[in-house]
This record gives sequence, structure tokens and C-alpha cells, in this order.
Amino acid sequence: TGGSETVMATRIEFTKHGGPDVLHAVDWTPPEPGDNEVQVENKAIGINYIDTYIRSGLYPPPSLPSGLGTEAAGIVAKTGKNVTHFRPGDRVVYAQSSLGAYSSVHNVPEHNLALLPPAISFEQAAASFLKGLTVFYLLRKTYEIKPSEMFLFHAAAGGVGLIACQWAKALGAKLIGTVGSAQKAERAMQAGAWATINYREEDIAGRVRTLTGGKKLPVVYDSVGKDTWESSLDCLQRRGLMVSFGNASGPVTGVNLGILNQKGSLYVTRPSLNGYVTNREELQEASSELFSLIASGVIKVQVEEAQKFALADAAHAHKVLESRQTQGSSLLIP
Ligand code: NDP
Repeated sequence: TGGSETVMATRIEFTKHGGPDVLHAVDWTPPEPGDNEVQVENKAIGINYIDTYIRSGLYPPPSLPSGLGTEAAGIVAKTGKNVTHFRPGDRVVYAQSSLGAYSSVHNVPEHNLALLPPAISFEQAAASFLKGLTVFYLLRKTYEIKPSEMFLFHAAAGGVGLIACQWAKALGAKLIGTVGSAQKAERAMQAGAWATINYREEDIAGRVRTLTGGKKLPVVYDSVGKDTWESSLDCLQRRGLMVSFGNASGPVTGVNLGILNQKGSLYVTRPSLNGYVTNREELQEASSELFSLIASGVIKVQVEEAQKFALADAAHAHKVLESRQTQGSSLLIP
């Protein structure tokens, strides 16, 4: 239901894999939403590191040309005939949609959407939904972080990282965060990290041994990938858990499983949000916990003005993200 007039939209597409410059803005007429889909007029679009993997070809899309992006917040414009939870005019946020959220309009399966509480702005929502759901499953499900427990979280001043710092503090836990600069260390500490390690200058495992009085850690969350794989394993206690959840420096490949034995009978998992939030109930559980932490101010989501990019400047936004210049989340504004 909803209006049937033709909608014009701008969206970002790419026809081949490569660097940021393969991204182009095109004028586009979005199709009518499918029976189980909601058409959302996007007000703020989340930029996620995974978008760079899809663009580069590390995680190829189903076909080319392709849209990009899976997260945005906005207003429901139209609904398909089987949609029951949403109506035109509703304020919503989504993540995990099919590719194409880098657009002024996107059709999204109903089960990917959540109603946005009035206390949360479109920008806050687009800056925190996918990343916050990720922190939820990492700290609460993949391994359940306990009060006063110490653990390592890489790229702690990034989009996922700053939410993790705040969530860890709310749990009463001690997050040790790796960061690439002194300014990023300061930002992570302000967000609630217990300690930071500048991994461009310091030896990660050595610092972890010092910070833990030689005990090392029960769990490490590593989204940097190739560059930190081995030093992350060196931070773990016997039978500790390595959570490898990203590839910012490149993917971890060619692992000899014997290394897990040598470094102390370790466990490894390689999780993704799509393995933890798979249906409406799981989205409800994770999003209600996230929204209440944001609405109550326990988790603050502030996007730097310099990290709010016009939709048509998506290529530039990717360059800035990949050059490690950003702190916290970045947005595209249609
Ligand atoms: P970030 O804002 O964290 O940006 C990535 C950060 O990684 C950089 O700012 C940089 O911080 C650090 N980094 C370290 N080495 C490199 C390198 N060689 N090149 C570029 N950056 C590097 O991005 P997001 O918050 O969007 O995502 C964080 C990570 O989490 C990504 O790896 C992403 O793929 C992963 N992720 C995984 C999910 C899952 O379910 N598996 C879901 C969501 C995100 P610094 O300068 O401090 O080193």
C-alpha cells in the first residue's frame, strides 16, 4: 500500500571491482517494494568497513553492476502487501539488507527493519545499528563478557570499536583497546576503554602481559585480520578464545591449525552478524538492548561533522575510511 507515483532516486553503483573510484552516483527509478518489503526513504546511511570488501571484490556481490551498503535510517514510504509491522510515515532503521542502501530510496525485507524510538535520531541510528548489533553479539553471545573481566578489542576507536568501549564499561568490564594514534587512544579512553595499546608503536602481546600481570586474556576480538592474527593469539590464556571478525588489514589465510596447539590449546571462531541475528525475534532482542543503552545515554553516538559525507561523495568517504583517518562511525547523507 502507499502511493504509486514514480519515485526518482540517486544511488551509488559499481560495475567492476577496485578502489574507491569504481563507485558512481546514478539517477535511478527504484522498483515497487516486493510483497514482504518496505520502501524506505533514507535520511542517513551507515558506512561499514564491509562495504569496502564488497567494492574491492574480497566479498563479491551476487552480480555486477551492483548497489552497495546494507544499513540506513529513514521514513517508510511504501509497504508491500504482506507487510504487517510498518506503515508509511514510520521512522525506521535497518541493517543486513540486500546491497543498495547507498541510495536515497531502498526496498528492504520487513524482517531487517526496526521501529526507531523517538529519542534516537536518524543519524544516531544509521551510525550505530549494524555496529551496535555486532557489539551485542560479540560481547554477549560469542563470548559472554563478565564484570571486571579484561579482554582485548582491536581498532577500539573505530565505528564498532567506540561502541564496544562504551558497552564494555556498561558491563563493568575492562576493555584493552588497540589504536593507531595518540588521538585515537584518547577517544577510546573517553568512551570507556580501560587501557589502550598503540599498535603502530607498541608490542601488543608484551603490553598485554604487563597490563594483566602475566595472566593474559580469556578472549580477543580481532577485526584487523592479517596484521594482528599472530600477536592476538599471543595475548590469550591457555584455552582462550580468538574471535576473528574482520579483515581491515587483509584476510587471515593459510592457517596451520598446529599454531592453536602451540599457543595453548586455543579456540578460534570466525563469526558474522548474519549468523547471530537471523530473524525478527533475534533482531528484536538485540535492537531493544542497543536502543535502551542509546536512549538512556549509556552509549553515546556522535558522528564527527567531517565524517558526514554527501551520498554522491561515497568514493571519497571510502578513501578516508581506508586510510585510517576516521574515528567512530561515518555516514552518507542523501
Ligand atoms: P572502523 O571504523 O573500525 O575502521 C577500520 C579501522 O581498522 C581503522 O580505522 C583502523 O583503526 C583499523 N585498521 C587497522 N589496520 C588497518 C589497515 N591496514 N587498513 C585500514 N584500517 C586498519 O570500521 P567499522 O567499524 O566499520 O568495522 C570494524 C571492523 O569490524 C571491520 O574489520 C569490519 O569488517 C568488522 N565487522 C565485522 C562484523 C561481523 O559481524 N563479522 C560486523 C561489523 C564489522 P586504527 O587507525 O586505530 O588502526
